[in-house]
Amino acid sequence: MTITLAREILQTRFGYESFRMHQEPAIASILAGKDCLLLMPTGGGKSVCYQIPAMIFDGLTLVVSPLIALMKDQVDALQSNGIAAAFLNSSQSSAEQVEVFRAVRSGEVKLLYVAPERLFQSGDRFIEFLRSISVSLFAIDEAHCISSWGHDFRPEYQRLARLKKDFQQVPLIALTATADALVRQDIVRHLAIPDAEIFVSSFNRPNIRYTVEPKRDSYGRLLDFISDRKDESGIIYCLSRASVERLADDLGAEGYAALPYHAGLDRSARDRNQTAFLNDDARIIIATIAFGMGIDKSNVRYVVHMDLPKNIESYYQETGRAGRDGLPSEALLFFSWGDVAKLKGFVEVDGNAEQSSVMLRKLDQMGEFGDLRSCRRRYLLNYFDEEMPDDCGHCDNCDAEFETFDGTVIAQKALSAAVRTGQRFGASYLIDLLRGSKSQKMRLEHLTLKTYGVGADISKDDWHVYFRDLIAQSLLKKTAGEYPTLLVTESGNQVLRGERSVQLYKVTHTDSSRSDRTETADYHKELFEELRQVRFRLAESRGVPPYVIFSDAALIEMATVLPQTDRDFTRISGVGAFKLKNYGPDFLAAIRAYCTTRGITPDPVALRPARRQKQPSNRTGPDTHSQTLTLFRSGLSVDEIAARRGLAVSTIESHLALFIADGRVQVEELVTPEKMALIKNALIDLKVENAIGPVKQHLGDDFSYGEIKAVLAHLELGE
Ligand code: ADP
Ligand code: ZN
Repeated sequence: MTITLAREILQTRFGYESFRMHQEPAIASILAGKDCLLLMPTGGGKSVCYQIPAMIFDGLTLVVSPLIALMKDQVDALQSNGIAAAFLNSSQSSAEQVEVFRAVRSGEVKLLYVAPERLFQSGDRFIEFLRSISVSLFAIDEAHCISSWGHDFRPEYQRLARLKKDFQQVPLIALTATADALVRQDIVRHLAIPDAEIFVSSFNRPNIRYTVEPKRDSYGRLLDFISDRKDESGIIYCLSRASVERLADDLGAEGYAALPYHAGLDRSARDRNQTAFLNDDARIIIATIAFGMGIDKSNVRYVVHMDLPKNIESYYQETGRAGRDGLPSEALLFFSWGDVAKLKGFVEVDGNAEQSSVMLRKLDQMGEFGDLRSCRRRYLLNYFDEEMPDDCGHCDNCDAEFETFDGTVIAQKALSAAVRTGQRFGASYLIDLLRGSKSQKMRLEHLTLKTYGVGADISKDDWHVYFRDLIAQSLLKKTAGEYPTLLVTESGNQVLRGERSVQLYKVTHTDSSRSDRTETADYHKELFEELRQVRFRLAESRGVPPYVIFSDAALIEMATVLPQTDRDFTRISGVGAFKLKNYGPDFLAAIRAYCTTRGITPDPVALRPARRQKQPSNRTGPDTHSQTLTLFRSGLSVDEIAARRGLAVSTIESHLALFIADGRVQVEELVTPEKMALIKNALIDLKVENAIGPVKQHLGDDFSYGEIKAVLAHLELGE
């Protein structure tokens, strides 16, 4: 079968062991001559879905892509795997273009990348040219650009409808990383592929850890954050050009190679800074959102948002530029409700009330995300209509210990502020009132209220957290509408009358991002640096960016398993026959020299293919639970597994608790009988069926969340 051939190409040419997500069915569908639409997150591996068929088909595969800046890299990357590819765009001279046409006509080229405007630039000439040769496949990259509902509409994309009309027999694959239901319909309609099979992969990016911190001394926090990551590449997003420039200066003064990027810089400065970043000459790029569309750098280890993005789509896309190589990466957002207020003016669309209200709603959801107490990944995936049954165990909230304290007095202040102003105001105004704001917005009659200024000792952000908590506890109720106000409920009145006390959450974040990073720490760091040098020299002599040669992930794998022979070397993920032949000798020589001078004998076990289990990209994938189980069954304790995997103990416990449901783990293995009895009693006393928080609060520190989860899972079995 041809799919076997496809898998063989994946292994020998691209050096990957197996297909991911929907790669295999998508390729099978194309090979069967059918059209398809493929949705896969950034870094998921969309390209091979047309590149492999391109190598199997006899004729040309035409790839339409709007990202001119990327074409050269993509073509370089293909050539570095020994695949004949070329591109056509406005950056080339006409002599260069003539040469490309010649090579295509003579059948020397299997994949041709072209910008949509180039396709129709000279009337029908390009289409005529395509007719005169044999075309086997059309691939439309960034297909969401065809829809005016998408976030990056490009009118010239709509002309692509012709392709299917003029070439009915040629299969077409549309690819995108962002498209909601509406945009999907648009793609299918405009490309005239009504019968296309649609493949939607999960949008989860398991290797990205999401963290939100309050926007307070964010510069100081940023310095802490990057000083731990001096050798790693990162993107820092700011809202305005001015703040980009300022931050670039400040970080420059601190000794960081950090370059600015925004639409106010001239073209050559932008290109220069972008290239320096791509080539790892500058570790940090500080940018407005103008930066990113054309960025295909696989080893971006972190993305920081100094300011709030306008909606979840943007946040997801921007953070998605981290970790395309599958290695653990960080997304850090500095959040304040002040930013939400500030952005309101930006997102409103003049003269279009309907769109404005959609945009404001989206901004509000971005605010909700910033203020979230529950799993951030689950929120993101839900936003994109994807269900996630369990918390991810790999975001700040999943790792946070939520502690409560007696917040009765704070609650009384907040509630009385609402009552005394006639329950006609929203949280922001009440907070200003409580903090004794001197703002013009304050009504005169409120300045003399007893509550005016009684909450000045608490910051705005904290007040916002408390208000949301009070709403969540149904002491306050938010009205619907554009300007929601806060009403005090009956339970709220009980609090005001002193008949009822209130527990409020305070959050202490455990900084597990550090421990997470130890997972990849057991490779030979100095060797990794040497391998980077080797890669750099090869890249320079071939005039391509370093990651085209090998990703950081591949180098780390080399520095972990220390391959000695060609055979060992091909087992590194990303090494195909072509790369083995062209780059293998240089890398192998460096590795052997390293081992010899240090008297290191590589561990033969590490060289067996089974080691792939340890690949970091799998670490938090769907398989993370099974990995925990395997280690547990091999006799390690929960603490040992946590240390080994660089995950929190509570995360490991939660993993194991999951296996109680299917009987692979017994509750007794995780909880002592004494504790189990106490947890059961607490569940009965508190009359809660499945709320872990209150039970934990009731039982105190001697009980972990994992133990409680385990008992719950056990009880759910009905035993
Ligand atoms: P996308 O276009 O979806 O953002 P790419 O096609 O650029 O993603 O692929 C991202 C990375 O994943 C590339 O380095 C690619 O070579 C690699 N990759 C693709 N398929 C596989 C696979 N089956 N196994 C391992 N790595 C893969
Ligand atoms: Zn989570």
